[in-house]
Amino acid sequence: MTNPEQLTIHEAHKLLITKQVSSVELTKAVLARIQAVDSKVRAFLTVTEELALQQAAQADKRIADGNCSPLTGIPAVIKDLICTKGVRTTCASKMLENFVPPYDATVIEKLYAEGMVLVGKANMDECAMGSSTENSAFFPTHNPWDLERVPGGSSGGAAAAIAAKESFYALGSDTGGSIRQPASFCSITGLKPTYGRVSRYGAIAYASSLDQIGPMTQDVEDAAIVMNVISGHDERDSTSVPCDVPDYTKALGKDIKGMRIGIPREYFVDGIQPEVAGTIKTAVAKLEEMGACVDWDVSLPSTPYALAVYYIISPSEASANLARYDGVRYGFSYKEARSMWESIEKTRQFGFGPEVKRRIMLGTYALSAGYYDAYYLKAQRVRTLIRREFDSAFEKYDALIAPTSPSVPFKIGEKTNDLMQLYLSDVCTMPINIAGVPAISIPAGFVDGLPVGLQIIAKPFAEETILRIAHAYEQATGWQQRKAPI
Ligand code: GLN
Repeated sequence: MTNPEQLTIHEAHKLLITKQVSSVELTKAVLARIQAVDSKVRAFLTVTEELALQQAAQADKRIADGNCSPLTGIPAVIKDLICTKGVRTTCASKMLENFVPPYDATVIEKLYAEGMVLVGKANMDECAMGSSTENSAFFPTHNPWDLERVPGGSSGGAAAAIAAKESFYALGSDTGGSIRQPASFCSITGLKPTYGRVSRYGAIAYASSLDQIGPMTQDVEDAAIVMNVISGHDERDSTSVPCDVPDYTKALGKDIKGMRIGIPREYFVDGIQPEVAGTIKTAVAKLEEMGACVDWDVSLPSTPYALAVYYIISPSEASANLARYDGVRYGFSYKEARSMWESIEKTRQFGFGPEVKRRIMLGTYALSAGYYDAYYLKAQRVRTLIRREFDSAFEKYDALIAPTSPSVPFKIGEKTNDLMQLYLSDVCTMPINIAGVPAISIPAGFVDGLPVGLQIIAKPFAEETILRIAHAYEQATGWQQRKAPI
């Protein structure tokens, strides 16, 4: 068959079980596509060709034995901060340039148990700090919709790979928007699950009270399929919640009549690109036409503080998490030093890039004696306010809807000298991590050929509500079927 790499997971699965295509064929098609386009997109830090072909052959055996689940034999790419046994995992940092994990993350174990084919590891901002993938220590990734533009970040390599059809699906991580914002920029689907829904064991920690792993896919059904596998309690991650995992695909194909949807006005922030706001409003009008009860003017008044809260809490936690990179246990080590202290200092000086150092300094400052109360503690208090506002909104509404990003993808280099502008590109996604609630970004249209993402937010563990609305919208509009021009 021609171009099998263009299929979704659910389409490919149908062909696999009816033996119209094999996993080896799918995998070869994906590898050929990587070969053809990745010199332009640069989504991959590592391509695991040999491993993928071996795994595909095993998957084909499994399918021949009639033991095929929805992800068996389907090629995937994994953000390079999720540990893969025997496959280099760099976090896009010089610090871990040669780090080969001795174990698999829980999510990887789960995907392997279903017969995942791993085609490679995706580029990202170093240590997941950034919104454009320009902070990768190795090279920036390009947006398949316009190669001069960023794919978003930090999971920009993963998003670009899916948009360019270099893989069927990806796992990303989202601390302040890193799944949803690149999904928006690349016109794919990206779901940040509820905090505690998916185990982070084996994911390299950035800010532990915010980090979540989630699926990045071509459509909503694929996101539900991946969620079915990666969700659930894990003894090795004490923040993962011991509650049942529903069959997320059951949430699909239902109508949304009578569902209550609120539009929080604070997300239409000053500085939002007017065409983006217009696109989101058109999308909401569509949902209203489909039978949803829309309240066009909801207020979550603490939202404007979310960015400040995020930039206290996340660097604070990062400064603690990144203390482990001392050149002694693993990763890069500066060997020429004459003392232990010099070795630690130089390891960190040469191992980390400028953004990571900036965050470590910010966090160390915010946590230091004398400043702790003024910054960290206060940020935690505002965090509680933000969370409570979501709680009370979800007493009235099944879901809230907002833009994912205030702008369409910007040009590579355009914001590198204006950090505030760069940090602002996550204003609409950060409050969700601060509150720990789930949210998805799905394609909602284009402004001058550049993608716009629609963000749907629900209460904790209401991923099914999100998927139901997202699927209904997607089926009614078909935006997910547009293909990037690459
Ligand atoms: N862009 C945000 C940051 O730089 C969010 C990153 C993320 O979600 N990992 O921290």
